[in-house]
Amino acid sequence: MFAGHLAAGLVLKKMERRINLGWLFFAALFHDFLLGILVLLGLEQIHIPANFAQTHYLTFTFPYSHGLAASIIWSALAFGITYAVLPRWTYKERSQAGWVIALTVFSHFVLDWFVHIPEMPLLGDDSPKIGLSLWNNLPLAIALETALVIFGFVFYLITVKPKTNLARYGIAALMILITTLTVTGQLFADTPPPANGAAMSWIFQPFLICGLAYWFDRKEA
Ligand SMILES: [Zn+2]
Repeated sequence: MFAGHLAAGLVLKKMERRINLGWLFFAALFHDFLLGILVLLGLEQIHIPANFAQTHYLTFTFPYSHGLAASIIWSALAFGITYAVLPRWTYKERSQAGWVIALTVFSHFVLDWFVHIPEMPLLGDDSPKIGLSLWNNLPLAIALETALVIFGFVFYLITVKPKTNLARYGIAALMILITTLTVTGQLFADTPPPANGAAMSWIFQPFLICGLAYWFDRKEA
């Protein structure tokens, strides 16, 4: 799941349209960004299943980036940071913005829960793990992820009503590109990526995607 996470940012933009989509996309991708860093530091692990050519997905040991307890902590922290960096907004506006960013961060856990195998721990790595394993039916998982992106973008168009062409067509082009890359990357991946290469991509892709989204949305937010 990659493009699908961005759909959550598109949907939640409605709750506080002054938050630039670049920040919402970063919040939506935060778990994977952190996973990339923790893998490089040796604190979390990527595993390559022997039957990767058939399953097309990696498995993980990732209690700090993708556990339920960790997700709640990261979401609470995101609320606090958002609240702190908006001193000129009223108390109510800061709380609202904090909730929007916190919910976007937490949406990553919920969406990953659908697709991952039961490998997402409730607490630490030795606690019970959950995951609905939708990736075991990859065509269905990809169809749902694509539907989520289409829903998210249409919802954004209808409710946020972006006024500039960049915020409409730029974001549309970005979503089409990322969805195509996500779908083809997973469907046709017969050889697993090197673990460090995957980790690096999770660190750097958000900067590129969020930077573009920030630029497209800068006159709207
Ligand atoms: Zn993830």
